[in-house]
Amino acid sequence: MRRGRFAPTPSGRLHIGNAQTALLAWLQMRAVGGEFVLRMEDIDRPRCKPEYAEQMLDDLRWLGLDWDEGPDTGGPHAPYVQSQRVDLYEQAVDKLWQDGRLYPCYCSRAELHGIAGAPHGLTSEGPVYLGTCRNLSPEERAAKEKVKTPSWRFKLPEHPLAFTDGVLGEQHVPAGAGGDFVVKRADGIFSYQIAVVVDDALMGITDVLRGADLLDSTPRQLLLYEALSWQAPQFAHVPMLHGPDGARLSKRDGAVMLTEMRQAGTRPEKLLGWLAYWCGLLDRPEPVQASDLIPAFDLAKLAQAPVSVTESALRDLM
Ligand code: GLU
Repeated sequence: MRRGRFAPTPSGRLHIGNAQTALLAWLQMRAVGGEFVLRMEDIDRPRCKPEYAEQMLDDLRWLGLDWDEGPDTGGPHAPYVQSQRVDLYEQAVDKLWQDGRLYPCYCSRAELHGIAGAPHGLTSEGPVYLGTCRNLSPEERAAKEKVKTPSWRFKLPEHPLAFTDGVLGEQHVPAGAGGDFVVKRADGIFSYQIAVVVDDALMGITDVLRGADLLDSTPRQLLLYEALSWQAPQFAHVPMLHGPDGARLSKRDGAVMLTEMRQAGTRPEKLLGWLAYWCGLLDRPEPVQASDLIPAFDLAKLAQAPVSVTESALRDLM
């Protein structure tokens, strides 16, 4: 059975870019008779709010999407909320530690960001880590331990990686790309990378479809699957929606939040038409229902480059 998912972070409200990703992940499963899972990624709790999670479910229902398992419906892999799954992340991190795949890192935020000319890493995760704490002696560790709680980093293996993305095709990643990454922060919060791998693996997800902003996380996640001896899913990264100025979509661009459109009385069919048009599933932005798009869904039709939404489209949505 094919299983896909949409896994939003409830740190804000859903915008049209999130809606497009949700729609495509849902279509991918509905087109093959697979199962669709909804998961709330509130692992970074200080950034998240339960109201946003509620609002997201409501916005997705308004769009005409449904899910077989999720925070509201439950299911065989419950809970579907990351903040209730920390024991599972702890077990995975313990296993990696036992297997010698992790090391404690005592570098401060200022040290990590202050390294002059540090190469730029994952957009969301700061500069590439240069391995300062990788080879500390037991004495050095003991001394640092007295003054700072460590974060825990995954030691990248020495081999390159290759994978085939369902939209973007062959991807080759040199050994060591991105540097050793954090799986558990010094404040005890598990990283997105470990939480998402544990959840997708234990929830039996076979297909991960998500925004292209997460393409550079995929090599890290593949290495975690390998280290934990889990079967990795197929990945497909769909184009981001950009604002009329070509920059990442933001509130400044106007009506990009689903809640605003709903308040203005916009019909979901209208938004769905635009979403399907932007990503390449429709030739014209004509109103459709989500279910009307199922027969025509094909990853091969999806645009590969980011799509800029026009001002007139945004006006049409209000
Ligand atoms: N929670 C992530 C986000 O909202 C998505 C994670 C994923 O799809 O892998 O950006």
